[in-house]
Amino acid sequence: MTSSSPPAPASNFLRTIIDNDLTQGRYADKRWAGRPGPAAVQAQGEPDTARIRTRFPPEPNGYLHIGHAKSICLNFGLARDYGGACHLRFDDTNPEKEEDEYVHAIIDMVKWLGFDWHYANENNCYFASDYFGFMYQFAEALISAGLAYVDEQTADEIRATRGTLTEKGSNSPWRDRPADESLRLLREMRDGQHPDGSMALRAKIDMSSPNMNMRDPVLYRIRHVPHHRTGSAWCIYPMYSWAHPVEDALEGITHSICTLEFEDQRPFYDWILNHLADLGQLAHPLPRQHEFARLNLTYVITSKRKLLQLVREGRVSGWDDPRMPTLAGLRRRGYTPSSIRLFCERLGVSKSDSRIDYSLLEQALRDDLDPIAPRAVAVLDPIKLVLTNYPEGQTELCHAPGNPHDPQAGTREFPLSRELWIERDDFREEPPKKYFRLFPGNTVRLKYGYIVRCTGCIKDEHGNVTEVHAEYLPDTKSGTPGADSVKVKGNITWVSAAHAVSAEVRLYDRLFMDPHPDAGDRDFLQALNPDSCRVQQAWLEPGVQAVPGTVWQFERLGYFVADREDSTPEQPVINRAVTLRDSWAQKS
Ligand code: ATP
Ligand code: MG
Repeated sequence: MTSSSPPAPASNFLRTIIDNDLTQGRYADKRWAGRPGPAAVQAQGEPDTARIRTRFPPEPNGYLHIGHAKSICLNFGLARDYGGACHLRFDDTNPEKEEDEYVHAIIDMVKWLGFDWHYANENNCYFASDYFGFMYQFAEALISAGLAYVDEQTADEIRATRGTLTEKGSNSPWRDRPADESLRLLREMRDGQHPDGSMALRAKIDMSSPNMNMRDPVLYRIRHVPHHRTGSAWCIYPMYSWAHPVEDALEGITHSICTLEFEDQRPFYDWILNHLADLGQLAHPLPRQHEFARLNLTYVITSKRKLLQLVREGRVSGWDDPRMPTLAGLRRRGYTPSSIRLFCERLGVSKSDSRIDYSLLEQALRDDLDPIAPRAVAVLDPIKLVLTNYPEGQTELCHAPGNPHDPQAGTREFPLSRELWIERDDFREEPPKKYFRLFPGNTVRLKYGYIVRCTGCIKDEHGNVTEVHAEYLPDTKSGTPGADSVKVKGNITWVSAAHAVSAEVRLYDRLFMDPHPDAGDRDFLQALNPDSCRVQQAWLEPGVQAVPGTVWQFERLGYFVADREDSTPEQPVINRAVTLRDSWAQKS
């Protein structure tokens, strides 16, 4: 679905599930020791006061993007609405790609979005790598119960004997080895006695299951690679599909909400948890997995691998480049946390995959900023306008509302003088049809100032216009009794040349020109928009204080923000967050 109007409000299938669970008292006897742990630990705990527990489990292998925001708003939002807790869990079970830099960036962004993982006096920020000991203990329990075995086939052999969607898999020759042999080998694997890939621990389920994920999935593999937190303490690392249910259960999660790709993993999720509970390792009630449709946005890629490639190849200035779909990039671009929450709310939650039009994200920002953003005037592509009958050296103040929707925002004032900057596009020597701005003989209003009549222009030797001339009509100033004495069709913005503040303005546009930049096996780099950042030396209304992070609506132009990284009071750098209207509606 690609739609330009907001979709219907969230279908509350998750809320319905939670309501039912609570009505049925599914968690009535749940105990919580105040920290993650197996059955023995939770049994000592108090009744859990959190009515539900959800989690947001990012892998610290990249920066969070707009897709993650959907999951964050959903998980933290449900916990908040139901009087529960939402854990922030770093799913750091894969040593190869994970880094502390990403951990800090993720914490920063979840906070920025306005969410908190503290509940009562608990600090529910966890690392899956802290559970490696429990996972190992559980693996031994599974082997002892005849539910797992060490397989000495190579990864290729394991893959080859797995079968296909239409063909059954075949049993490994090691499948029926005695439990104590598997136990000994697992310990040797843990102690570093075997090289990478020489053996693996597998669950013993059913090689003929129609669900491929149930064909003896690998639980542990050997990787002699240091981990960002556990260093070289471990050289076996759990596979995601095994680690994830265990992490949820140790943390007493009630609703494990994930994206639809994991639907086929649910039988294995339940298999693992039910067996570990039967073996006395995990406490009831067990978490349950529920799937929702991930966010796909037109004009955007969210694959971390591809985003990393854009950064590494210098196609963008970094993870927080204002054109990136990362939350750090959106923040720098001028997006507010409330605009992103509004966007996610409008998306709702569904179980069917869809592609959301990028304009919905932009519209959420406009809707969020319109009532609150202070107004100012900027001239991005300046040309001089000289009021030839206005006395040289004279200035007078003009008045404008701080924000027309907000009386509290008061009025602002700025000077008018003989020489002004106006937009180059607001003058045409030969006007096209329906052009109501400046052209010789036409009258327009200088917004908040006088009506002026264009008298001509000056050109250089190449015929380029260098200066526009006009005469002002003295009794027509805005806000005076004569303001309406002359009717005009055009209204243009301006700043006084002697008073304006100079600024670098970065006119950002979509990073990709194609609504589906990485559809199929397309090379997404081919879809890059060559015009996604234009830099202009612009003039701003005097009085604009370019404190990094400040947002304005520049009249007629859009919403702009002082760049968090590069802007200084002496040399303002301003980013365009979004235009006032959707300029892509016709193009796409
Ligand atoms: P990648 O596969 O590119 O590494 P990922 O989806 O695996 O990305 P994680 O860090 O594992 O990234 O994601 C953390 C959480 O965010 C997961 O629970 C995942 O379901 C959710 N999430 C990620 N992308 C989206 C998306 N586009 N829409 C909704 N939720 C998402
Ligand atoms: Mg992942």
